[in-house]
Amino acid sequence: MQSARYLQIAIGSPLRRHFDYLPPEGSKQSDWQVGIRVQVPFGRRTEIGILVGISDHSDVPAAKLRPALKILDDAPLLSDEMMSLLKWASDYYHHPIGDVLQHALPVLLRQGKDASARTETVWQLSETGKAADIADLSRAPKQAALLTQLQLNKDDLLSKDDFNQQHSNWRTPLAALIKRGWVDAIERRGLLGDTAVPDQAPELNDEQAAAIDTVCAQHDEYQCFLLDGVTGSGKTEVYLGIIAHVLAQGRQALVLVPEISLTPQTVSRFQRRFRVPIAMMHSGLGQGERLDAWLAARGGEAGIVIGTRSALFTPLANPGVIIIDEEHDSSFKQQKGFRYHARDLAVLRARRLGIPIILGSATPSLESLANVDQGRYQQLILNHRISRTTPPPVRTIDLRGQPIESGLSHSLLKIVTEHLERDEQILLFLNRRGYAPTLCCHDCGWISNCPRCDAKLTMHAASQRLRCHHCGSEQPMPAHCPECSSTELRALGQGTERIEDALQAHFPAVDILRIDRDTTRRKGAMQAMLDRIHNGKKAILVGTQMLAKGHDFPNVTLVGILNADQGLFGIDFRASESMAQLIVQVAGRAGRADKPGQVLVQTYHPEHPLLQNLLKHGYPAFAQQAMQERREIVLPPFASMALLRAEASQRELPMGFLSKAYATAMACNIKGIELFGPLPAPMERRAGRYRAQLLIQAAERKPLQHLLKILLPVLEKLPESRKVRWSIDVDPVDTM
Ligand code: ADP
Ligand code: ZN
Ligand code: ZN
Repeated sequence: MQSARYLQIAIGSPLRRHFDYLPPEGSKQSDWQVGIRVQVPFGRRTEIGILVGISDHSDVPAAKLRPALKILDDAPLLSDEMMSLLKWASDYYHHPIGDVLQHALPVLLRQGKDASARTETVWQLSETGKAADIADLSRAPKQAALLTQLQLNKDDLLSKDDFNQQHSNWRTPLAALIKRGWVDAIERRGLLGDTAVPDQAPELNDEQAAAIDTVCAQHDEYQCFLLDGVTGSGKTEVYLGIIAHVLAQGRQALVLVPEISLTPQTVSRFQRRFRVPIAMMHSGLGQGERLDAWLAARGGEAGIVIGTRSALFTPLANPGVIIIDEEHDSSFKQQKGFRYHARDLAVLRARRLGIPIILGSATPSLESLANVDQGRYQQLILNHRISRTTPPPVRTIDLRGQPIESGLSHSLLKIVTEHLERDEQILLFLNRRGYAPTLCCHDCGWISNCPRCDAKLTMHAASQRLRCHHCGSEQPMPAHCPECSSTELRALGQGTERIEDALQAHFPAVDILRIDRDTTRRKGAMQAMLDRIHNGKKAILVGTQMLAKGHDFPNVTLVGILNADQGLFGIDFRASESMAQLIVQVAGRAGRADKPGQVLVQTYHPEHPLLQNLLKHGYPAFAQQAMQERREIVLPPFASMALLRAEASQRELPMGFLSKAYATAMACNIKGIELFGPLPAPMERRAGRYRAQLLIQAAERKPLQHLLKILLPVLEKLPESRKVRWSIDVDPVDTM
């Protein structure tokens, strides 16, 4: 008798395990390939899961096992390479395998749609159509209107959307034009096409050429390179040079960029250079486009794949290189659900594929610098700015005892005036949107607290509302104090809206542009502002960190950082590192053209040693000092961390659960583990829930991983765990 076989299926459920099923009736062993999708009954629903293994044994009693319903694929959707990477990630981040696998599939595939490329029909004038005379269509006005549109765009491909924008019923008249032989219908894939005449690469400087040679000399083996180059030193040009080499070998390049810098400008720079289709992977795509891009990457048609964090999981037919731009950026770490770090997983993926990976930054993370120190990564340095301008000098403005108008010191305003007199542009940076972070009653001291968080409601003047930036709750601006009915309500502190107002009052004739999440929400709004900036006329730009990356402002000659103290005294241990990166990145926006720039940093603590070191000796010196501090107090990168978080609507529940977790972890008695807490989170109440955390730390990864492996299954079974929402965050980037 043949022994029974069980299908192990991963399903998107919060349980950290797979589920056993009998094979679907009538299916053969050769149909059961790891990596295919299988439709299964799950409770009272049906779910689509991924086959992760086949076994002769199941812990579930035979009577309880149900047969799977249907096999959806005749070949695996996820290759062995991808499956093993995802399994590794599921183990390392201690996240359920079913949910991890879902991350690697486009939504349409998760829903069970066919894994075949969808084509889209587009239309173009034929040669006879180009010569056709509109007058011949005088009795067919709809055809005439379409022909006019086609002739106006005679070398372009027009899509359904293009016609929809201008005509209500266009299908019948278009069919008539096709019948006349004036229009051709073309089937197209949802990929960015290649360029007919690619841009010429500039002549590379010695540093760039050396960097490319070093990487390409090792193109057949794994090596992680840290491309450390100041802003404007030509890092992107190095990526392009390496990609050219990879494409010439018939292989593919995977490029990850931070969310904020995946702009049409970035993509078109890649697109204009190479004659290969490019697949874009980001959350703004339609589901069909996403599937197309995924299939084109998997099938090898896309030579380059560019995307944000989750693009890491794109399958590649012939991978040749992985590039992570702005590797220090925290958007590479997913902050909820499957809390993976795309940079760290990318390094692992490259190692398993045996291909080079390049991490690029002007301000590398301390983690990557430590890896260089330990000889694991090879550093490639670009010291020179292409434009040969010296980096702008950075100076502090001591705010103590100075007259200040809405967060703008008189010394800063004076220098702003000088730059305006020379018709130059100025960029002022403040990491807080809205008008003011707090509204306060001058008579009784009432403060605009969020009813659901331990935080203040931010006052937004343009919309006349109070909003919580943590939970999203909002209310109209009160006309009177809710406590004492006084009308003496005052705005405390500054946001970008208030700075904009103050500047407009001070410089009534100057163009002031505010760029933050509130002014750029509308599609095209950001581009419109960038166009205004690029016309080069004198202007002041006020913005949040949206301005720190991905954009060049060639006419900006003065950058002002309005409040550096937020970063110097942040609660998170990475706050000063992030502030230093931000100062350097923002400073890099200035003086890129021939005009010299300068950078001013407002602070109440100009003597702060980290700030002094950064300003006097630059980012590398700052990084060495910060690294020394981390080493002394044993924090990452000199320790491994995991944060166990819990929240509930009753205050005692998360603390109760975490105390149990603490006791359980202690009882495991693993050498080298340190526990801190449980403690209420720095912002204890958020969106109406109380939050607490237990920090688990060890000098090495191994004991930490060992503990989590034992601890989490025990926690899952605790009765206390059902009363809270809890999660584990391995290598957290935000310990709030
Ligand atoms: P980074 O990514 O380091 O900020 P970029 O690669 O964007 O730098 O280069 C900055 C500018 O210099 C870009 O406009 C780029 O086209 C140009 N550039 C880069 N390398 C060269 C070169 N070797 N010769 C001339 N221009 C270059
Ligand atoms: Zn009051
Ligand atoms: Zn709130």
